[in-house]
Amino acid sequence: MSNVLSPLAEMENPTEFIGRHIGPDSTQTQAMLKTLGKNTLEELITATVPAQIRHEATRTLQAPVTEQAALAELKTMANKNQVLKSYIGTGYHDTYTPTVILRNVLENPGWYTAYTPYQPEIAQGRLEGLLNFQQMILDLTGMDLANASMLDEATAAAEAMAMSKRVNKKSKSNAYFVANDVHPQTLAVIKTRAEHFGFDIICDDPANLEAHDVFGALVQYTGTTGQVRDIAAFIQVAQNQNTLITVAADILSLVLLEAPGKLGADIVIGCNQRFGIPMGFGGPHAGFFAFRDAYKRSSPGRIIGVSIDTHGKQALRMAMQTREQHIRREKANSNICTSQVLLALLSTFYAMYHGPQGLKRIATRVNLLTKTLASSLQSAGFSLKHAEYFDTLHVEASNAQALCARAVTHGMNFRLVDANSLSISLDETTTAEDIDAVLVVFTQAPANTRELSTTVANSHSIPAALVRSGAILSHPVFNSFHSETDMLRYLKRLESKDIALNHAMIPLGSCTMKLNATAEMIPVTWPEFGRMHPFAPIDQAQGYSQLFEQLQEMLKACTGYDAISLQPNAGSQGEYAGLIAIKKYFESKGEDQRTICLIPASAHGTNPASAQMVNMKVVVVKCDDEGNVDMQDLSAKVEQFGNQIAALMVTYPSTHGVFEENIRDISELMHSVGAQVYVDGANMNALVGLAAPGEFGGDVSHLNLHKTFCIPHGGGGPGMGPIGVKAHLAPFVAGHPIQPVPNTDTANGTISAAPWGSASILPISWMYIRMMGNTGVKQATEYAILNANYMAERLKAHFPILYAGRNGFVAHECLLDLRPLKAASGISEEDIAKRLMDFGFHAPTMSFPVAGTLMIEPTESESQGELDRFCDAMIAIRQEIAKVESGEWPKDNNPLVKAPHTLDDVMDSQWARPYTRDQAARPLPYLHNHKVWPTVNRIDNVYGDRNLICSCPSIENYMD
Ligand SMILES: *Cc1c(COP(=O)(O)O)cnc(C)c1O
Repeated sequence: MSNVLSPLAEMENPTEFIGRHIGPDSTQTQAMLKTLGKNTLEELITATVPAQIRHEATRTLQAPVTEQAALAELKTMANKNQVLKSYIGTGYHDTYTPTVILRNVLENPGWYTAYTPYQPEIAQGRLEGLLNFQQMILDLTGMDLANASMLDEATAAAEAMAMSKRVNKKSKSNAYFVANDVHPQTLAVIKTRAEHFGFDIICDDPANLEAHDVFGALVQYTGTTGQVRDIAAFIQVAQNQNTLITVAADILSLVLLEAPGKLGADIVIGCNQRFGIPMGFGGPHAGFFAFRDAYKRSSPGRIIGVSIDTHGKQALRMAMQTREQHIRREKANSNICTSQVLLALLSTFYAMYHGPQGLKRIATRVNLLTKTLASSLQSAGFSLKHAEYFDTLHVEASNAQALCARAVTHGMNFRLVDANSLSISLDETTTAEDIDAVLVVFTQAPANTRELSTTVANSHSIPAALVRSGAILSHPVFNSFHSETDMLRYLKRLESKDIALNHAMIPLGSCTMKLNATAEMIPVTWPEFGRMHPFAPIDQAQGYSQLFEQLQEMLKACTGYDAISLQPNAGSQGEYAGLIAIKKYFESKGEDQRTICLIPASAHGTNPASAQMVNMKVVVVKCDDEGNVDMQDLSAKVEQFGNQIAALMVTYPSTHGVFEENIRDISELMHSVGAQVYVDGANMNALVGLAAPGEFGGDVSHLNLHKTFCIPHGGGGPGMGPIGVKAHLAPFVAGHPIQPVPNTDTANGTISAAPWGSASILPISWMYIRMMGNTGVKQATEYAILNANYMAERLKAHFPILYAGRNGFVAHECLLDLRPLKAASGISEEDIAKRLMDFGFHAPTMSFPVAGTLMIEPTESESQGELDRFCDAMIAIRQEIAKVESGEWPKDNNPLVKAPHTLDDVMDSQWARPYTRDQAARPLPYLHNHKVWPTVNRIDNVYGDRNLICSCPSIENYMD
């Protein structure tokens, strides 16, 4: 064969997607390289990435393919999933995503590409959505406060346990009670957390609660096999013995059942999945977490609060715990950083669209169909274990296994509870005809559910004492958008308040806001992926199994590790999972004395917070003047603690954006005393194809698929944080109690509710790697480095660049030092961040890892034109600062301290400022073509924390 491509092959262009994903074209590339004094990309990379770590494991990936070819290949895989009608329940139910929400939110980059709302003035849309989410949860649970989402129901339950321990000062007990009818995956996750916190778990019938001395207890409402218990009695017992009660509640049942808060619960948790979010083989979904006002300073996750802006106008922002891990480190309430914002929003819009009446109709209909099924089954001679239920029947049957098998042949899945019983859960998609079909499985005779439903309509399956009293969702936001037109416009109105990647680059250091290509997103809403229940028999999920295997191979090639666990559903959870694997490994070797985790001062806040969760003692290692790990200090710590050290957690390239030359020495030093090296993989975007942590010394890393591997940020979630491990740690990764995960052991514990975490967004990363292929993923890294260095080069005359590597080059991000400017002018990093909004940009990462700095990460997806536009904005801002320094503009009246500027500002007939309205709002010419208006002025954080309001204000507040 000759090397020359045929004319046809040349025109087929399998590398087309690479050129779509990477911003700069060849002309721009040459121009940018020239600025850096380099002739080729390879020259730049050689000068930047230390030779001793270069390693191209990604060579083994397949060649790139086109979007169409990748989609076709994935469709073939998806078709291997058999989507049966699911009656499995266990916390996951089929649901309809209202199409107006599907298209305009879930499939809309204006929503899914947004970043976590750290810059609230350009995030008022999603903040309003999240405030509505909190209001919805407050209404349904009857509690005082709710946060803006958790990773899933099981981890929410585990966080409730941890919070109960923190806030319960009256109990001396170290034991936690779990009712024996909570979902099995919830119990597994709680047991894992408890093991590492050193709590004892008592799993028993809630009727026996009185016999146990415990600091907290979890009961499920309704139980995993459907029973609606009168939880008020347990709550009373708990209160009498200083036990804090957490209620795990089903969100749809809460529409009909009395609010747990009214019954005295201390914490209420659950999952929003059945409010319009596809099951997706386990996720992503949003856990919810509601609690008493008294616990607000101890709660995990983020709370959205109402504050005011500089003009006293109502404005929303993340309250108190905004950057909790970064401030409190190992004393943080939890390690959760990325949560499930997009999913929280989807469920809120579902509730707003249906409204209280619509939700009531849905819940009542599900309950009526369940009552009808119950009646028919009883007529056919079957007995039910629970007389009181909402949507789930626990059916006694000596041939339960045979019935479940027969159900499969009829295209449906029941849940086998034990040898003599099964359960059936109904949902909003169930029809009367579906129930007829279910009955055929049991009786093999035709049924007429539609007719029978009339006769059972007035019977009750919910005890009178537990029927909800009082209205739900009476706030106007839940009663205003029931027509599609109204909903569409409301969604658009919120979306237009926010800056996402469909407006401009979001240069967030450490967060890698790269392209989330449409072709990558398309498969997420395929029903073959969306409608799979996570506990469906695995032989029905062959498409998913194949996807997991292939993605694991791809990620191995990208990291140099030997095995990948896909369970952790955020970076923080990956850290936790990786540290547990390390702990289990040492336990297996009898080295239980290794309890110290070394963490450099510059580490991301989740690192110490995760170490604390596995009961390791955090010892901080200093950084030197270049921002590298201080080798002298590290050696001293290794000397001092020796075989007490379990691990070093190190980010590579460093959080300062530099390739440290001595990472191999660091790893060898740790290994020399038998310790493990945890490489935080958030910065894989600087490594893929050029170097591999599994090869240069890492034993384990988490990968943030929502950073390097193209899962969008969703405005603060979802994400995925799988871990890569070397072979010796592979036997210690998480398992799952219900759905066996290949090559894992349940004794290792369980990290997430679902066996493969947020399985339904894994196709995004698969598509990315498949389309980029062996050549593309490496090129992406090279361009990420080129773009960062180009920006550093353009900006360095105006702002000092804090750290650089050996030849003066940075890795994939750079830190601008604003401290000297602040000293000279009084203008702070915050002023600059807010001023960038006037230029239509989202600010870079602020004051991490160094206070008074901005960390810029452009990613490979931005073209030179966009990089220049951002640099021009920064340079224009620098010139504005000069005018403050020189005294031309007063320190308290200039476009920086007054930023951001709203339409109201420039329309004001009074304009008493030393700069023009045009300078305020359109400081560069491109803004005359396109302008995104911040809708509020700078928000007062202190006011919001002093006057904490986390529910929807009355409607008048929206009017002015
Ligand atoms: C983003 C990030 C994390 C945490 O990941 P989440 O998915 O937000 O939990 C950890 N370490 C570093 C360096 C990060 O940038």
